[in-house]
Order: sequence, then structure tokens, then C-alpha cells
Amino acid sequence: MNHKASGLDIFAAVGNTPLLRLSKLSAAVGRTILGKAEFLNPGGSVKDRAAKFIIEDAERTGRLQPGGIIVEGTAGNTGIALTMLGHAHGYTSIIVVPDDQSLEKIELLRVLGADVRLVPAVPFADPNNYYHVARRIAQETPGAIWADQFNNTANARGHYETTGPEIWEACGGQVDAFVASAGTGGTFAGVSAALKERKPSIRTVLADPFGSSLYAYVKHGVLEAQGDSIVEGIGIKRITDNFRSARADDAIRIDDRTTVEMAHYLVREEGLLLGGSAALNVAAAALVARDLPEGSTVVTILCDGGGRYLSRLYSSAWLESNGLLPAAAGLTFLEAAQHAR
Ligand code: PMP
Repeated sequence: MNHKASGLDIFAAVGNTPLLRLSKLSAAVGRTILGKAEFLNPGGSVKDRAAKFIIEDAERTGRLQPGGIIVEGTAGNTGIALTMLGHAHGYTSIIVVPDDQSLEKIELLRVLGADVRLVPAVPFADPNNYYHVARRIAQETPGAIWADQFNNTANARGHYETTGPEIWEACGGQVDAFVASAGTGGTFAGVSAALKERKPSIRTVLADPFGSSLYAYVKHGVLEAQGDSIVEGIGIKRITDNFRSARADDAIRIDDRTTVEMAHYLVREEGLLLGGSAALNVAAAALVARDLPEGSTVVTILCDGGGRYLSRLYSSAWLESNGLLPAAAGLTFLEAAQHAR
């Protein structure tokens, strides 16, 4: 036997996350709710997978050369992942972030050594939107590539080739529904396609925050947004190349109160400190589960950890100033959420 320890390099440590059983929630709902623990990736979020596939694709095609610069516009997590993984392969990064994102993510990017460019949070149609700024910086910087997580389909492919099959294996094929939100659409598209291929009858439901157009798009075929949300990293007003391959049977919209209540429920009852998009996903998964026969299994994505949102989602002062202090006992808040669909 060979006893030489080889270990994993950081690229190989991305993925193969556990599929966690949310035990108390499952018992309360009478259906099994499982969460893919993407916050356990080396960079702390689901975006490690997209970053890994985007970097490896750019290396394979020769776009990314030794000592190259990776440029990206991101709500934070993709930048964190690209910067960390990039350093491991000798690249530097320029990360363009809208200034309404959590300070924790921005500080983390700086500590990791990214060249952080904060830009005003303006709509996509504005040329100063972080997406367009990142594209221009990449065009103007010698040796730079634009990661382009929204339209670079290496992103969804990463989930199609890894996240989806991992979920299928971990469930032994016993999965009745997949529920998740979309930021670029990479996760939802890749996983929904991989699972539908293996089990055409699986129910795939897009979970959307207010302020996003995807709910109306899946429900009625029109890109139309209503309201706003405090949840970071998810919700879009356009169809990205990554979202295009999504297989959505239905959509469900989750309001901020439900997300906040669920985030605090998960800390209190399941011992899980998660970000807002993960809490929104779990709330949506619980509501979808209740419409399925008892004993069904629903899988969702636990996108990132709550440590990145201590000054918002887990700050009483911040929550109070936004009228979102959690108040519910148990899961009573899900009853109210049912009506917000
Ligand atoms: N949650 C968080 C916290 C994110 O940063 C992102 C990525 N923007 C998502 C969910 C959505 O993932 P995807 O881009 O694969 O749709």
C-alpha cells in the first residue's frame, strides 16, 4: 500500500460538499429537505465551482496566460473565488463590486489581495453598471481576461458536471424536487438540467426574490420585476446565457421577511449560520415540499455562510432599521409566506 500523503490542491478541494439533512425542518414539514453545503467550499460559497471551471476553461483555450489578470464584476462571492483560486495558479485579479454589497465581502476581497474597484449600484442599462465596467477594464488591460460569469457557460457546465451528479449520487436517485434561486443562473441551470436528464419527472422550481424578473419569466414568459429585496447575489432582470439552459417547471417568490425569519430559524434550530440566498432557498424548498406527497425529498442549495452578513442579516440594529426584526416562533412565518406566492 502506498502511504505517501498527497493531499488535494485547492482546485481539487472545490465541490464534493456534503448534502445536509435539515432535520427539524424536515420533521415539521413531513418531507425530507436536504441542502447542498456549498458554504463549505474553500472560498466559502457556491461560486467556487463557477470560478474553477471558468479559470480551467480559460487556461485550456489559452486565453489565460501565466501571470495573467482575471477581471470580473461580481456581488462578491465570484470575486472571492476567482481571486483565491487565481492566486494558486499565479494570477492576480481586478474585481468590480457594486457599493451596496456587504462590507464583509468587500473587506474579504481586499484581504485576499484583489484590486477592488467599487462602483455605484446602478441598473444594468447604465454604462457604469459593474458588469459593463468589468468588461471595459478587461478590454483595456493587457494580459487580462473577463471571467464573464453571466454569459460564460463554463459556469453552468461546472454545475452540470459536478453539483447535479453529486446531488443525484448522494440521494441514490431518491429526489423528487430541486429548488434554487439564480444570480447568474449557473447553479440552477446546470443542476436542473443534470437532474432532469436522470429523472424527467423531477420537479424543478426557481426560487426568486422580489426585484427580480425571473419569477414572471418562468410563470408567464415575460421579464417583469416587482419590488425590491435585501438578499444579495440573486435575482436578475435579464436572461443570461447561463440561465438559458435552465429547466424550470415552476417558480416561487419569497419575500424578505420570510428569508430573514428562515435565516434565524436555521441558526436556532439547525445550527446553521447561512447567507440570505441560502435562507431564501430553504424557505422556498419547504413551501414546495408541502405541495408534494408526504415522504418526498426536496434538495436545495446552501449558497454561502452567514459570516459574510453579520452586519446586516444578523445585526439587530440593521434589521430593525429595515423593519425586518425576526419575530416568529417556530415556523409560523411559513403560513404567511404561502400567501405571498
Ligand atoms: N447566492 C449567493 C450568495 C451568490 O453570491 C450567488 C452568485 N451570484 C448565488 C446565490 C447564485 O448563484 P448562481 O450565480 O449560480 O445563479
